[in-house]
Amino acid sequence: MRIIRSRTELATLVAQWRNAGETIGFVPTMGSLHNGHLTLVNALDGQATRRIVSIFVNPIQFDNAADFQLYPRGLEADAALLEGTGKVAVLYAPDGAEMYPEGFATRITVSGLDGMLCGADRPGHFDGVATVVTKLLLQTGADIAAFGEKDYQQLCLIRRLVQDLNLPVRIKPVPTVREADGLALSSRNRRLTPQQREQAPYLPAALRACIADIQAGKAVDACLQSCRENLKSHGFNVHYLDLRSGDTLLTTETLTPDARLFVAASLGDIRLIDNMAAA
Ligand code: AMP
Repeated sequence: MRIIRSRTELATLVAQWRNAGETIGFVPTMGSLHNGHLTLVNALDGQATRRIVSIFVNPIQFDNAADFQLYPRGLEADAALLEGTGKVAVLYAPDGAEMYPEGFATRITVSGLDGMLCGADRPGHFDGVATVVTKLLLQTGADIAAFGEKDYQQLCLIRRLVQDLNLPVRIKPVPTVREADGLALSSRNRRLTPQQREQAPYLPAALRACIADIQAGKAVDACLQSCRENLKSHGFNVHYLDLRSGDTLLTTETLTPDARLFVAASLGDIRLIDNMAAA
C-alpha cells in the first residue's frame, strides 16, 4: 500500500492505472478507522481492480472549531489497519494546504437537502462535505465510491450531487455497522467517557422501540414525542428525532414503505447520529 500526500503524485498514478485499464474504487474517510470503514473497503470486493482510501479531516465541514481540533486522529494506526486488509492500493492523505491552497474560494451547495436534519443543526456542514467529496472524486478518478448509511443524509446528498454534476462515478451504499450492543460504530465513540459509552446504546434501542410502536399502529407524533422524552430522561440532548422518507428526506406522518427514523442526540459534547428503516 502506498501512502500518497500530494495531488500531483496521485494524478500520475491514476493516469497510469487508466492507461493499464484498471478500475478505481474509492472510500473517503476522516480517519480514526474502525470496522465500519473497513466494511466500506470490503463492499468494493470485485467492483474495482484498485482501491483508494482517503483520510482527510475536512476543516470546512466543521461548524465548530473545538470539534475540529478534538476530532480523533491517528494516521499510523489507520495505515496499519488498511495495510492489514491487503485490499488497498493507496492511502491518500492530503493536508489542508493540499486540498485548500491559498485563494480557494469555491463551495458546492446541494440545495434543499442541506437545510434539514444535520444541515439545520450544523450550518455550512453539507457545503463542506459536498465540496470535499467532489474534489476527492475528481482527484481519485473513482469509478465507484462507497458511502455508509450511517450518514444517510450525506449519502442522499452525494447521490444528488453526482447526478446533478454528471460525475462518472457509481455510488455504493453500505448498511450501518454496529457494536454488539447496537451502537453504530463511529470515530466519535472514542471520545465518550466510560459512563457515556454505557448510556450510548440506549439511542439505537430507543429507535427500535419507537419503530415497534409505530408499526403497532400508534400515532407517529405521539411515538416520536415519547421517544424524545425517553432519550432526555436517559441523559441525551435530542437535536432532532424525525420520521422521514428515505428517498426525499421529507417528513412523513404515516408509515410509508420508505420511511426511516432519523436521530441526532448528544451525550455531553459528543454528538451521535443514527437512522433505521421503519417499515
Ligand atoms: P467518516 O470517517 O466518519 O467521515 O466516515 C467515512 C465513511 O464511513 C462515510 O461514508 C460513513 O458513512 C462511513 N461510516 C462511518 N461509520 C460507519 C458505520 N458504523 N457503518 C457504516 N459506514 C460507516
